[in-house]
Amino acid sequence: MKYEVIAIGAGMAGIIAACAARDKGKKVLVLSKGQGCTNMTSGTVDVLGYQPWEQQRCLTNIKDNVQRLIKKKADHPYSKIGYKFLEESLEYFLNTASEMGLEYKGDGKRNFLLVTSYGFVRPTALVPTSMAGGDVRNEGECLVIGMEGLLDFSPKMVADGANRFREKMGIKGKWVNGGLINLGLSRTKRSNPLAIAKWLDKEENFNYLVRELKLLISGHGMGKETAIVLPAVLGSKYQQDLTAKLSIKLQHPVFEIPVGQLTVPGYRLNNMLIDSAAKKGADIQLGTPVLEVKTTKETMTVTIDAPGKPVVYSCEKLILATGGVFGGGILKDRKGYEETAIGLPVATGGNKNTNSMGLLNREEQPYSLAGVAVNKDLQPSVLYKDFNKYGQVAIVGASLAGYDAAVEKSGLGVALATGYAAGTLAGYHYNQGERRCYNEASC
Ligand SMILES: Cc1cc2nc3c(=O)[nH]c(=O)nc-3n(C[C@H](O)[C@H](O)[C@H](O)COP(=O)(O)OP(=O)(O)OC[C@H]3O[C@@H](n4cnc5c(N)ncnc54)[C@H](O)[C@@H]3O)c2cc1C
Repeated sequence: MKYEVIAIGAGMAGIIAACAARDKGKKVLVLSKGQGCTNMTSGTVDVLGYQPWEQQRCLTNIKDNVQRLIKKKADHPYSKIGYKFLEESLEYFLNTASEMGLEYKGDGKRNFLLVTSYGFVRPTALVPTSMAGGDVRNEGECLVIGMEGLLDFSPKMVADGANRFREKMGIKGKWVNGGLINLGLSRTKRSNPLAIAKWLDKEENFNYLVRELKLLISGHGMGKETAIVLPAVLGSKYQQDLTAKLSIKLQHPVFEIPVGQLTVPGYRLNNMLIDSAAKKGADIQLGTPVLEVKTTKETMTVTIDAPGKPVVYSCEKLILATGGVFGGGILKDRKGYEETAIGLPVATGGNKNTNSMGLLNREEQPYSLAGVAVNKDLQPSVLYKDFNKYGQVAIVGASLAGYDAAVEKSGLGVALATGYAAGTLAGYHYNQGERRCYNEASC
C-alpha cells in the first residue's frame, strides 16, 4: 500500500511527526514494534533542565539557555532545527493536548521546579495541570499524603526534599508529612500505581478516597489554603481531571507527584498522543517490527513482520523515530552500535568511555549520545554517493546523535520539536513557495 509519509516509531517523536504531516493533508502511516518511552516518563515535557557543559546548575530560564546551547553546540538537535521550530512545537503540543482534553501548563520559556517522589527537585517545561501546583517555589503549606502498600512514594522523603530546597531559597511555608491512607486494596493492586488509578476511575472508589482523605486531613487541623499532595494515581483516563474534582470535594488545592518508572501521567500522555494521531486520520500499526527498509531517490519501501506473511508499504517521505538505546532504535553489542530499522551509521560520543559512576555523577554517556548524525534538514549525514538514497529520510527524537537527554533533561522536548519539524516539512515540501528547510536562518 502507498503512503505519502511513513513514521517508524510510536513515541513522542513519531506520533507528533504523524500529527503534523496529517495537518498538512498527507496520507500518513505510523509503524512501530512497540510502545515508545512516553509511558516511562513522568508525563512532563523536559526541554532543557541543564546545560551539557554545566551539569550542576539547574536552569530556570529555558529560552536564553536554548539559545546559548544552539550557539555553542552545532551538532545538537535544537541547533539543527533552530529555536523558532522548538517554540512552535511547544505551542502545537499545548493545543493538541488541550483539544484532546488533557490540559498542560507552561510557556516553554521558564522551567517549573517539581519535587520527585524521592524528594529531589527537577526542572521541566510543560506540566499536566494535575501537577502544576507542585512548583517547590510556591509559598504556603502542603500536606503530603501517601498510600499504604504503594512503593516509591514516601511522604516523608517528599516533604523533607521540598523543605531542604525551600529553606535554602528562603521560601515561606512548610511541606508536612501527612502519613498514609489505607484504600483497602489487595497487595498486588496497592503496589501498582496504574492499577490504583484504574480502580479510582470508578465513582464509588473515588468517593471512598474522598472520605478517607477528609478524615486524615481533619486530624492534621490544616487551613483551607493548605495544598494536598498525593501520588499520581488520580484516574487513568487523560480526559478526566480527578485532581480538580478532588480539590472541589476537599476544598483544598490538590496536586499529584508521579510514582516509579511506569507512571500514570506518562500513561495518560502516551494514550493522548496515540488517540490524537488516530483522530487526525493517521493509520497506526503497533506491534509490527520493521524487517527491511529500501530507499531510492524517488521512493522507499518498508517491509514489516505481519501475522502470516511480511507486508510491504511504500512512501515518498520516511521519518525514522525509533528512539535511542532505550527505545530499541539503537542496539549496542560487543561489536558496537547498530541502527535497527535502516542500518544507518551510528555516531557515538567520541572517545568517551561508559562510566558506571557517571550514571550517578550525571556525566554524558556514550550509549545516550549514540545516534544518527544529521545535516541541517535532519537528513542522515552519509557519504555523498549515498545522499540520493537517503535524501527523503528524516531522523527525529532519540534516534538523533549529539545530545544526552538524561543529562540535559531534554528528552520529550527534543522528540517533540524534531518530530514536529520533520512532520511539518514533510507536508511543506509538496507546496510550492513554502518553507523548505528546518532552520530558516540557513534556508
Ligand atoms: C525512565 C525514563 C524516564 C524519562 N522521563 C522523562 C520525563 O519525565 N520527561 C522527558 O521529557 N523525558 C523523559 N525521558 C526521556 C524520554 O522518554 C525520551 O527522550 C523520549 O521518549 C524519546 O522519544 P522518541 O519518540 O524519540 O523515542 P521512543 O519513545 O523511545 O520511541 C521509539 C519507538 O520506536 C519503536 N521502534 C524502535 N525500533 C524499531 C524498529 N526497528 N522497528 C519498528 N519500531 C521500532 C519503539 O517500539 C517505540 O515505539 C525519560 C526516559 C526514561 C528512560
